[in-house]
Amino acid sequence: MRYIDLRSDTVTHPTPAMREAMYRAEVGDDVFGEDPTVRRLEEIAAERMGKEAALFVASGTMGNLVALLTHCGRGDEVILGDHSHTFIYEQGGMAALGGITPRPLPNQPDGTLRLEDIRAAIRSENVHFPRTRLVCLENTHNLCDGAPLTAEYTAAVANLARQHGLRVHLDGARIFNAAAALGCDVRDLVREVDSVMFCLSKGLCAPVGSVLCGSADFIYEARRARKVVGGGMRQAGILAAAGIVALEQMTGRLAEDHARAQRLAEGLAQIPGIAVGPVYTNIFYFWLDEGVSLSPQEFLYRLRELGVLVLGREDGRFRAVTHYWITDEDVETTLRAVRAVLSA
Ligand SMILES: *Cc1c(COP(=O)(O)O)cnc(C)c1O
Repeated sequence: MRYIDLRSDTVTHPTPAMREAMYRAEVGDDVFGEDPTVRRLEEIAAERMGKEAALFVASGTMGNLVALLTHCGRGDEVILGDHSHTFIYEQGGMAALGGITPRPLPNQPDGTLRLEDIRAAIRSENVHFPRTRLVCLENTHNLCDGAPLTAEYTAAVANLARQHGLRVHLDGARIFNAAAALGCDVRDLVREVDSVMFCLSKGLCAPVGSVLCGSADFIYEARRARKVVGGGMRQAGILAAAGIVALEQMTGRLAEDHARAQRLAEGLAQIPGIAVGPVYTNIFYFWLDEGVSLSPQEFLYRLRELGVLVLGREDGRFRAVTHYWITDEDVETTLRAVRAVLSA
């Protein structure tokens, strides 16, 4: 049985073009800087982001950690959202491995941090205080309904950061989804930040990998940080080859995923017993009304029996994510399955 897997865009398998590119990839030892395919991916990625240089890393978590280790020293403090992926889902790696203190501020429902909150959190020079070094933003914002941050907002944060001698890192795991939703070039969304990480392995369908981009000096140091966390890979061109296909063939089609998420959410909202949150991109959340006698666990189990997977969260909500392998027909099949579960 083929499942309609809406749990995440990380479940995407590589496309046939990716497998072909992987098979044919020219490779070398990338720790020696000799893998031509990795180097090409890094050049293409830097160009797409409008940055000087790029670094291929094993995962988004590694990309964010390497960025933080590069921007900050032990004892430094990082301002970030209390709903951010880096704060919630990365094991506190910055503190565990880098001696860096997180300073979480409330994420607004649209994924932003209030400029006043950032300003108030920046430390003054005082022997008692850690030194604020960095502000981290997330675009699109996973836990805040997949909301995209605008270029204007990002620039305003970067401007404030610069006034205080801080740097800005962007967790842009789904930055191409943000560009598709806002109808802009991805460069507009990252122009003012010092570094940006984006994932090849989510909606772009590559099997493995993320890319960290920034100035040539920053990437030089980041390459050292990647090595110390064990991220120096050898014939990684096998993986980078799929990443090149991801950048060349997959970034232009993400609006399709957003339209399917919209259609799915609208259909769900019409089913008695279902409530749906806002939809901005390819991720949205929905939940059962209080009147529904089914528990969230039972709902998930029955939906699974009908061949549909969504992600259950601890708060009883469900996450649905559309991606390359979800078709219009899958959306309709999912709606039929949810109707069947709730009317049984
Ligand atoms: C998935 C994700 C990451 C981490 O990526 P992994 O490759 O899973 O380590 C970081 N930030 C955000 C917003 C993500 O959604």
